[in-house]
Amino acid sequence: MPLLTSWIDSANAPDCPFPLNNLPCGVFSVDGSEARCGVAIGDMILDVTRLEEDGVIAPAEHPVFDVPYWNDFMDLGPDAWAAFRNNLIAMLGDGADADTRARIEPALVPMAEAVLEMPMVVSEYTDFYAGKNHAFNVGTMFRGAENALPPNWLHIPIGYNGRASSVVVSGTDVRRPWGQLKGPDDDAPRFAPSARFDIELEMGAIVGQPSDGPVTVDEADAMIFGYVLLNDWSARDIQAWEYQPLGPFQAKATATTISPWIVTRAALEPFRCDTPAREKELLPHLRDTGPMLYDIDLRVTMAPQGKPATQIVQTNYNVMYYSAAQQLAHHTTSGCAMNVGDLLGSGTISGPTKDSRGSLLELSWGGKEPMTLESGDTRSFIEDGDTLTLHGACHGDGYTIGFGACTGTLLPALKDPYAR
Ligand code: CA
Repeated sequence: MPLLTSWIDSANAPDCPFPLNNLPCGVFSVDGSEARCGVAIGDMILDVTRLEEDGVIAPAEHPVFDVPYWNDFMDLGPDAWAAFRNNLIAMLGDGADADTRARIEPALVPMAEAVLEMPMVVSEYTDFYAGKNHAFNVGTMFRGAENALPPNWLHIPIGYNGRASSVVVSGTDVRRPWGQLKGPDDDAPRFAPSARFDIELEMGAIVGQPSDGPVTVDEADAMIFGYVLLNDWSARDIQAWEYQPLGPFQAKATATTISPWIVTRAALEPFRCDTPAREKELLPHLRDTGPMLYDIDLRVTMAPQGKPATQIVQTNYNVMYYSAAQQLAHHTTSGCAMNVGDLLGSGTISGPTKDSRGSLLELSWGGKEPMTLESGDTRSFIEDGDTLTLHGACHGDGYTIGFGACTGTLLPALKDPYAR
């Protein structure tokens, strides 16, 4: 698909992350005013709450943008999503007439003046473990190469139920947690700040339609509204002690950061690609029915406090073993109900090479091989004041689909977490 040109010139640059082809959904405020729903276009945000108030758009018979989240709109379903997108493409496209432009222009807000907020209410959050390179690397470090991949791994997309309350939007500071730690040679655990705090480079899929029973992979794909970048901050030392046999708990509960713009499935459609070859045939209910991954270039940068950023990871979402549709289908097999606003983390996205590993645990191989940053600093895990940023882009024919940065800075642990 070629670039769709807009009468908003900034949207037509080949490297602009928000061309007319994208139209991602976010929530913003200006000067502390009430948060509103908006769509990114070029260097502007289209205030769709205002367009609905002014009667320029009416996605439903009742208002859906009178709230500072996209859940009410997602609830309308795929036909309404497509009609809304097509309407915006017509009104923002360079074929729009002067009358249309005059009705749109008052609702354009410079992105530079806006603060981006959580784009949706996260109803629930599940995190998967669908990157084979990551699962193999971490499994090797925790259990040895022979037991690296659990026996279930090639048959089901394994995951755990996370906490919706831990999900925050890009730009939110993250506080180094305290937790119970016990190294392999320690006689007893101790309670102390995590010393091995880490990132996980992931994609998040956002469920836009509910289900109340098992759904097929195709039905699951149609339920997904869009995708965000997701950093599943992880305390490795807490994780290593707590995770058996029920999986991660407090190690993953400090924060999970998402990028501020939901990039819709429609915008990603030209970038669909196949999952890798199956090493074991999947049972029929989880089999691939078409290309359900996406070709999304992913990068991570790390900046020590007051110093320039260094790129530490470069990989692609297309290396994942399971698609979000397969994960969602698996999630429903038990009859588990899914809700509008459910967030599914993909699992850490690590490629086959060292510089494509999506966590510091893997990059530094458990701390044994520290990295040297361009600032001259060395890192095995995150130090206080470091800023970690995820970047994502799909490269189309003369255009780019961006997600907005997914960033967070690590604050020092509290001196005494129980001080009152
Ligand atoms: Ca994770």
